[in-house]
Amino acid sequence: MGYSIIADMHMHTIASSHAYGTVKEMAEAAQLAGLCAIAITDHGPRMEDAPHPWHFDNMTTLPREIAGVRVFRGIEANILNAAGETDLEDVRKERMEWVVASFHPPVAGLHMTEEECTNAWLKVIQNPHIDMMGHSGDPRYKYDYERVIREAAHSGTVVEINNGSFKVRAGSYENCKTIAQLCKKYGAYISVDSDAHTPWRVAALDEALQMLNEVNFPSELIVNADFNRLLKYMENRRK
Ligand SMILES: [Zn+2]
Ligand SMILES: [Zn+2]
Repeated sequence: MGYSIIADMHMHTIASSHAYGTVKEMAEAAQLAGLCAIAITDHGPRMEDAPHPWHFDNMTTLPREIAGVRVFRGIEANILNAAGETDLEDVRKERMEWVVASFHPPVAGLHMTEEECTNAWLKVIQNPHIDMMGHSGDPRYKYDYERVIREAAHSGTVVEINNGSFKVRAGSYENCKTIAQLCKKYGAYISVDSDAHTPWRVAALDEALQMLNEVNFPSELIVNADFNRLLKYMENRRK
């Protein structure tokens, strides 16, 4: 089965200083890769190299389309604790079109138990302002996959399959495979994303797509495999 991905919903720009492309360069790279949309999702303000909250508030000044590519105003918010609080609260969240929530060691630390991670995710996925669970296959933040993915299907939260994780978060691949199988079982939407930190990694999704192929993942559950499906999801999520 060949998948066609039309949007890359997770990437960083120079607004997070450990990334190296401008918004314009990321959009141009997406156009070259044949995508119709991207989400710019720089790190929420609690991360060490994150932009100031004004970065997110002022994204409304960006054109909606750059280089023929729809550019969604996004954020990768940091999950702060087992209560599922995030630093999305530091920005004007109603202006954000695409909100990813993720665990990052510099913010969440490395002390969370499986039970705490499970509780955090259960809270996060009930938050109507949060669209997607970011790179949740990270073995440092193991959670009860069966329980959380079943709930994500119910609450309609997208589960990310993050291609970049396979390189930077050891052990993610097998976990993501388990997570993908559970998404298929419970009917949860996934989004296949690059988490690009340079223009050259936009739409780099090969390993993730091959893994989805191996588990025979249904294309209808890939929210970013169809532009209308993606728009409809985003519209319903904010209702
Ligand atoms: Zn991240
Ligand atoms: Zn990221």
